[in-house]
Amino acid sequence: MLIIDAHLDLSMNALEWNRDLRKSVFEIREIEHEMNDKPDRAKGTVCFPQMREGNIGLCVATLIGRYVKKGSKLPGWNSPEQAWAQTQGQLAWYKAMEKAGEMTSIYDVPSLENHLDLWQSEKKGSLPIGYVLSLEGADSIINLSYLEKAYENGLRAVGPAHYGPGTYAQGTDTTGGIGKKGRELLTAMDELNMILDATHLCDDSFREAMDHFKGSVWASHSNCRTFVNHNRQFTDDQIKELIDRGAVIGGALDAWMMVPNWKRGISTPKGMNVTMEILIDNMDHICQLAGNSKHVGIGTDLDGAFGKEQCPHDLETISDLRMIPELLKNRGYQQEDIINILHMNWIRFLKDAWK
Ligand SMILES: [Zn+2]
Repeated sequence: MLIIDAHLDLSMNALEWNRDLRKSVFEIREIEHEMNDKPDRAKGTVCFPQMREGNIGLCVATLIGRYVKKGSKLPGWNSPEQAWAQTQGQLAWYKAMEKAGEMTSIYDVPSLENHLDLWQSEKKGSLPIGYVLSLEGADSIINLSYLEKAYENGLRAVGPAHYGPGTYAQGTDTTGGIGKKGRELLTAMDELNMILDATHLCDDSFREAMDHFKGSVWASHSNCRTFVNHNRQFTDDQIKELIDRGAVIGGALDAWMMVPNWKRGISTPKGMNVTMEILIDNMDHICQLAGNSKHVGIGTDLDGAFGKEQCPHDLETISDLRMIPELLKNRGYQQEDIINILHMNWIRFLKDAWK
């Protein structure tokens, strides 16, 4: 069964972690086995061969470049122009992967339908992986003319904020609204028919963005606050509002978003009993709030600056997403629901957004 993963930082891994994602996860781990510049070295889980092995034929892939204002403790660039340039390097990698036959850009209904037909065929082992291009945190948009440029280059979804304060919205671990610049960004996104990614918006910015934006909203990689009480997670009221807007919410596999009291670099997946069942708990909670299976999908965030040390211990590589149908079945989910969650909800959402 085709699996869609709505959040992977593929280009960030290629360029900042220096991972050639055409190699297998095990080859990449071998290359990194004596490196210690990052906590997740030799612990990666994502690459093209393992995506194909797991039948993950389509993903939402990110561009990400943060601009930090004076006084911020977060890592990032000292000007929006530098952040923009970083995203353009990331874009160049996606384009090179297209040329190499490894990936293919999905940006409208025909490109989506062609790709889905292709993945119905037999030779899955060598097919290009489709990607919808998304921007995680909009600080690199120097002004709105750059949003148009980005759209022309294939960008179809924008999360206005990431961690901390942003130019267009306030993100995780902060407070405050979207301001004039945020409202202008959302209006321009509406005009370009771009998707708003509600993930990472702080509660105030979520409220204002939902009020101001008229188009299609998804949450590419978000879990439920009822299980882990943190502002990165959605409250039940926020989930209900997303459902009312026709959103699909992608369940994430970052351990600290799956169990309470996770301590980065100290807690271990086994020690905290982090398993794939917790993803199913989050999915089930959203299905119960919706009264159906049409608003939840997969948005793992695997290798989003963490690896095996911070994801479910029963997942060795991204190909293990294959276990999700069985886990859902054990909870009483019917085949139609399982298809919805694995790919159909994202497909329906994209077709509706792009019609
Ligand atoms: Zn994220």
